[in-house]
Amino acid sequence: MKGSIMKCRTCGSYTLHAKCPGCGNETSIAGPMKYSTTDRFQGFRLRELEKDLDGKNSD
Ligand SMILES: [Zn+2]
Repeated sequence: MKGSIMKCRTCGSYTLHAKCPGCGNETSIAGPMKYSTTDRFQGFRLRELEKDLDGKNSD
């Protein structure tokens, strides 16, 4: 598969190039990802919540 679709993380533009034609920043592959940054953030918040609940329970 050639010509991976890339996405600029700065301005959100899609391109086929390693650099964003709009703002010149590096792009990352916009193809299928195992997890999104949103999922990672949700996982982080879940862990924070678990820590919070654990702290209250152990008191
Ligand atoms: Zn850009």
